[in-house]
Amino acid sequence: MNVPESFGSMVFNDSTMKERLPKETYKALKKTIKDGRSLDITVASVVANAMKDWAIEKGATHYTHWFQPMTGITAEKHDSFISPAEDGGVIMEFSGKELIQGEPDASSFPSGGLRSTFEARGYTAWDPTSYAFIKENTLYIPTAFCSYGGEALDKKTPLMRSTEKLNKQALRILKLFGHDDVTKVITTVGPEQEYFLIDRELFNEREDLMLTGRTLFGAKPPKGQEMEDHYFGTIKPRIKEYMADLDEELWKLGIYAKTEHNEVAPAQHELAPIFSDTNTATDHNQLTMEMMKKVAARHGLACLLHEKPFDGVNGSGKHNNWSMSTNTGMNLLDPGTSPRDNAQFLLFLCAVIKGIDEYQDLLRISVANAGNDHRLGANEAPPAIISMFVGDELASVLESIENNTDYDQADKQMMKIGVHVLPKLPKDTTDRNRTSPFAFTGNKFEFRMLGSTFSIAGPNITLNAIVTEELSQFADILEASEDFDRDLAKLIQKTIKEHKRIIFNGNNYSDEWVAEAEKRGLLNLKTTADALPYFVSPKNIELFTKHKIFTETEMHSRYEILMEEYTKTLNIEALTMLDMAKKDIVPAILSFETALCDAIAAKKAVCETIDASLESGLLKKVSELSGKLAQHIEALEKAEEEAGTIADFEKQAAFYKDSVLSAMENLRATVDALEVCVGREYWPYPSYADMIFRV
Ligand code: ADP
Ligand code: MG
Repeated sequence: MNVPESFGSMVFNDSTMKERLPKETYKALKKTIKDGRSLDITVASVVANAMKDWAIEKGATHYTHWFQPMTGITAEKHDSFISPAEDGGVIMEFSGKELIQGEPDASSFPSGGLRSTFEARGYTAWDPTSYAFIKENTLYIPTAFCSYGGEALDKKTPLMRSTEKLNKQALRILKLFGHDDVTKVITTVGPEQEYFLIDRELFNEREDLMLTGRTLFGAKPPKGQEMEDHYFGTIKPRIKEYMADLDEELWKLGIYAKTEHNEVAPAQHELAPIFSDTNTATDHNQLTMEMMKKVAARHGLACLLHEKPFDGVNGSGKHNNWSMSTNTGMNLLDPGTSPRDNAQFLLFLCAVIKGIDEYQDLLRISVANAGNDHRLGANEAPPAIISMFVGDELASVLESIENNTDYDQADKQMMKIGVHVLPKLPKDTTDRNRTSPFAFTGNKFEFRMLGSTFSIAGPNITLNAIVTEELSQFADILEASEDFDRDLAKLIQKTIKEHKRIIFNGNNYSDEWVAEAEKRGLLNLKTTADALPYFVSPKNIELFTKHKIFTETEMHSRYEILMEEYTKTLNIEALTMLDMAKKDIVPAILSFETALCDAIAAKKAVCETIDASLESGLLKKVSELSGKLAQHIEALEKAEEEAGTIADFEKQAAFYKDSVLSAMENLRATVDALEVCVGREYWPYPSYADMIFRV
């Protein structure tokens, strides 16, 4: 494969536009993209026609408005280009109107009450800032998805609003530092994606994996990840072929897939792209997840994106590397080389510090779902407490600023803002503190709490919103100042003083940290059900509505959707467990018990006094467990029944968390204990060892 030639070959990108569009149209389109305004219909018609011709040459027959509803995955409805011709044949058509706007019947997408059933239509609006592309003979047009009342029904709309608002506030700050040449600030994101690959035949034998994405039963295998022989290990040939195929598919779509390696758990891998603007990164991450699954099927594999597919084995996350940069090429989180640059860096850093401290709840919520609840706080994953890692060097600089003390004992240097250059901060390329949920890594922050299934839209909307708010507060103060340097220094010092509690450079996995965080007054929202209600607190409504990222109605609807998603997930898991237990596991145990009884009876028939202690001992053990199994099945059925009678969605979520989940855990513990006793040929499902080692 000729990579440079193939890269982006299926994308209607800038070079294709330049080549295919009349000069005037190209210019008008670029201007629209730059200013974020809506496109003139005559321009749109020319673009649509060029897009269609290009797509047809590449084999496309259909087009679709591709959008990102609140389900967290993407949605599409395909229309063909055909239009009847006078002679009874067809011509291939695609109008500007069809490019700009679509009207999917959207009544089945979650709207949290925003769209009443009598007005079931939503509309999709072309997002020209994310390139159209071709996949499976279809032209994909990235779109935003709204109700007719204009409320956002998707994840893209608020994300785009949030980057626009951050741009506005960051420009105010940059102006104060004399950067009149800067006209645009964007946020950049590089999401590292973890996933599992298992054999497809084994996947198909597990109802739990097929229906819920994770194993609901499964005893620990004799070998797990304790040998640590998988991390960065040599990649098996079958997996290598998969990765090569995946890279090719992603490159054609213009996705900068860069790094592929094995992760900590057996059968776990990671893909990291080169970062891009947040909107593109979000679209590309959705496409990456989709292609991971599709390509896996071609290789007889199943790709698991669930946060915790296997109990007792590391879960999968997504690291959201985030920064801000200008159209002049400045990374705003890159410490500079002059005192002035450093003052600016410290101010942006302080905006992040203050934002993370004041909106811990929102960050926690942005990574909350039922799947991630199994992961946060477990094995490798960060705990549910939000804190920030800045590294020892930067921490001592901040301390010096806060207390007017020396930051370097040997040098007797005191850090003075606007006077001193920061000491050289080593770029963190080696994950020096893997335990931190939010780590400064030299010129960006790495938010590590995301679950692997997540759309990165939510966490980035949150990051952008909180930093927007802090920058606007800072700009208000500094624009009114009569002595910029003095007030800047004061502001930075004050911010560090008031918000340093959010900085923690130690081991986030230790019990001491949990106690220490509590002393510091940091939130520890352990589950999704605990975290979500904070979304609609007055402080958070104020934040999002002030900057017009969400309306209050949109926030309430999102809150409801997230809560429902949580209870629905647990409901499906509970029902799947019951189905598996009753239809497969109980019959398996009955056969095994029957075999044991037959063996004992056969022996006794030969000789009354023969030793049958193996059989009877095993029968006794299995019988005890099967008695418990009956109880736990009944308890879970009861809990499920009761959950169904609770009308209030908040109370229902709490009931799932407190009662259904523990009934599920009890059932699982008993089944897993049985799995260890029952003969291999009797057990209806592939074991953990089969799944994670037999690839
Ligand atoms: P590694 O951790 O493998 O040494 P990096 O830390 O450079 O590599 O990058 C990890 C991820 O962060 C990659 O996806 C990379 O593209 C992304 N990244 C690097 N710089 C930025 C930035 N300024 N903004 C957002 N993401 C970035
Ligand atoms: Mg990383």
